[in-house]
Amino acid sequence: MSLSKLVPVAHMGHDAPWLQIKTEAEVRERRAYIETGKPEPERPLRLKLLKIVNEPLPPKLVKVYAARNKAEAARNKAEAAWDKAQAERDEAYAAWDKAEAERDEAHAVWVRAHAAWVEAHAAWVEAHAAWGRAIVSREGVAFHKKVCGCAWTPKKPDILLQLATQQEGRT
Ligand SMILES: [Zn+2]
Repeated sequence: MSLSKLVPVAHMGHDAPWLQIKTEAEVRERRAYIETGKPEPERPLRLKLLKIVNEPLPPKLVKVYAARNKAEAARNKAEAAWDKAQAERDEAYAAWDKAEAERDEAHAVWVRAHAAWVEAHAAWVEAHAAWGRAIVSREGVAFHKKVCGCAWTPKKPDILLQLATQQEGRT
């Protein structure tokens, strides 16, 4: 924004609002543009009617223009807040997308790990059952007889069944 002071100016353009508030620099630039960029036959009229208004503005126009400026400042402030919120939202969305991708990857790893566990668990159940069968097989029973020799048998596996016999043996 130029430091030139603001001035009311009439007829900056042929179909522009008849009165605008511009900087002196903008008025100078507009005149220079008309002098070179507009069709020659239009130039004298345009330059004649484009003028800085030296009369004080009527009170109503002063009041309405001040309200317009106040609204403009509020709009600009809201726009800056909106821009900031948008940048933060975009950043949060990017973080969300990244987190979502990481979650999907972690979930896929979990799915594979769970499937591997299901398979390993089934193999363990089978192997554990085979061990249970082996210790009561002919070889297992023979080994029990060799290392222990009590009355345990696969058909009478509860050793407390031998309680009465033990007590009898003690008396
Ligand atoms: Zn035994």
